[in-house]
Amino acid sequence: MQAIGEMNITPRILLGPGPSMVHPRVLRAMSAPLTGHLDPEFLQLMEETKEMLRAVFQTGNFLTIAISGTGSAGMETCLVNLIEPGDEVLVCVNGVFGTRMSDIVERCGGKLVRVDVPWGKPVTPEDLKKGLAKSKPKLVCVVHAETSTGAWTQLPALVNLAHEAGALFLADTVTSLAGCPVKIDEWGVDAVYSGTQKCLSCPPGLSPVSFSEAAMKKLRARKTKPQSWYLDVSMLEKYWGQERVYHHTAPITMNYALRESLRLVLEEGLDARFARHERNHKALVAGLEAMGLKMVVAPGERLWMLNSVHIPDGVQDAAVRSLLLKEFNIEIGGGLGDFKGKAWRIGLMGESSTRNHVLLVLVALECALTKQGFKLKPGAGIEAASKLL
Ligand SMILES: *Cc1c(COP(=O)(O)O)cnc(C)c1O
Repeated sequence: MQAIGEMNITPRILLGPGPSMVHPRVLRAMSAPLTGHLDPEFLQLMEETKEMLRAVFQTGNFLTIAISGTGSAGMETCLVNLIEPGDEVLVCVNGVFGTRMSDIVERCGGKLVRVDVPWGKPVTPEDLKKGLAKSKPKLVCVVHAETSTGAWTQLPALVNLAHEAGALFLADTVTSLAGCPVKIDEWGVDAVYSGTQKCLSCPPGLSPVSFSEAAMKKLRARKTKPQSWYLDVSMLEKYWGQERVYHHTAPITMNYALRESLRLVLEEGLDARFARHERNHKALVAGLEAMGLKMVVAPGERLWMLNSVHIPDGVQDAAVRSLLLKEFNIEIGGGLGDFKGKAWRIGLMGESSTRNHVLLVLVALECALTKQGFKLKPGAGIEAASKLL
């Protein structure tokens, strides 16, 4: 075998659906010396992380921890712990991630009640009412920020409907957490998961989760063990709690990264961070529309951190994305599922949500679209965006 050369990764500007850009302080934290996963200093770090996660989730939930694994591991953690075989579970599906939840519900032996909502639309109280009229679920699952489409679902009314029907409420906040308000206690969400690599701007690898008392009660009343040993919250609780019972070796370095990224989020302040995401999103949309592009999601229903835009007729998806990557070092996302080849997904998450990135991606798109023969007024995108920045 020939010797493999040293790794030499090109620094990219990450404007896709995640991972997002990572602050140098987070990368620096990751180069700190390793400790053991039961070292007193590491245990202290876990306590600080729990405290900061509670602040970011806006919850007092005792069980607020970081699962070892990406956002999907958090999704699986919530579902395997809260579903017992035969339980009826209602999942609202308006994109890829609701579809993924449905798959996991069935793998847990849950009786799936699926409420399908058109892709690109948020889930409305009327949608959920229709589902509740034909079922008696123990758990209702909704994606707050559907990253596959860019649609923003408002949770409070949905949580109330679920509770009135006697169900617990599970929210996916992988893309929303630290990018727009997520108020777990105020809204009454019973179980929630997120991911580190979207608006928390940390590398992928951990999934913050939080369970309310009602969710913990359901967990403690289980007659059967959860199907997953690794994600069993009743065991993880003993490692993250005072007992410190070894369960699995925590990914030490990732926990350093999460701690630092949470510090950055709280230093900026949640409200200031949300306002930054909103401002940059609005500027980007103004720029895209001034260039003659059309957004997938209707105004008022758009996420601030993920912008889906229709690919105009006659423009080649792959050619544009490859030019952005090769000539500008910019990654944007392609469409998923129903939107494959039909939409681009431009992420402005966490550290990626900056004025400079908005202006740069507009220039890069103008260049790529012009090469494809798409007619636009030169500079119109930048001009429209600048007015809002
Ligand atoms: C990214 C994402 C996930 C999955 O997270 P992974 O880290 O890719 O496992 C789940 N839900 C939503 C809404 C996401 O955006």
